[in-house]
Amino acid sequence: MADTKVYILDGGRLAMKEYHMYWNAGGEAMVTLPCYSVLIEHDDGRFLFDTGFDLHHFDQFVMPGIAQQSLDQTIPGQLANLGLSPADITHVINSHYHIDHCGGNKHCLHATTICHACELEAARTPEPFEELAYSDQSFAPGLRASEPEIDIYTPRFETLTGDQEIARGVFLFETPGHTNGHYSLMVKLSDRRPMLFTADAAYTARSMETRTISSAHVDPVAACRSLERLNILAQDHDAELFYGHDIEQFGAYRIAPAYYS
Ligand SMILES: [Zn+2]
Repeated sequence: MADTKVYILDGGRLAMKEYHMYWNAGGEAMVTLPCYSVLIEHDDGRFLFDTGFDLHHFDQFVMPGIAQQSLDQTIPGQLANLGLSPADITHVINSHYHIDHCGGNKHCLHATTICHACELEAARTPEPFEELAYSDQSFAPGLRASEPEIDIYTPRFETLTGDQEIARGVFLFETPGHTNGHYSLMVKLSDRRPMLFTADAAYTARSMETRTISSAHVDPVAACRSLERLNILAQDHDAELFYGHDIEQFGAYRIAPAYYS
């Protein structure tokens, strides 16, 4: 049995007003955010947790210039650095379907797509104020019945509810509030503390320290409870927290082709 390996794939940078990152606690300044994906090389397959954003989508539909991504930082580019191609990915797991977490799904044509059942529903029928956040549905053409089905990618969805161990040592924990079906990921490895990836349930270390959720949320009470839950999970499992968009912490990550095991 081979040891599980975790690769952090650099997916580029976004810019956001500080007050969007810290609800009622941030200023007007623009803050730089890293976007990254997590590749888990496991005996049961290659699992990709989140797939970053599509630069063209941001430039066209969000705001030109706020997203930065080189070709090397796309999912095909990051996988090529490891001698892999998107066809080698067996499973894509999405923490949630916001546009900066699923933009590379469409490259992984052979993967089973895993998400929380509530998240697929949220992507299909987002709240009016969430339309833009869910606007990249290239991973699931035809998800909304009103839109014509485009024959580029028909994912096999596997929807889950509750906390799950989807493969030995790979856990998904429900952390709703930012979105209804948000999952955080924990991976147990042989030679180090478990890695607990918060995704957008905790943007940064400051989010956790000050228990401040982002202004993007569908349920602020649930989002605050999820922050607390992550804190408790980290303590219970002696896990290291890897925040979703922390530029300072990101600078200390081991970035692919280096890996954790
Ligand atoms: Zn999000």
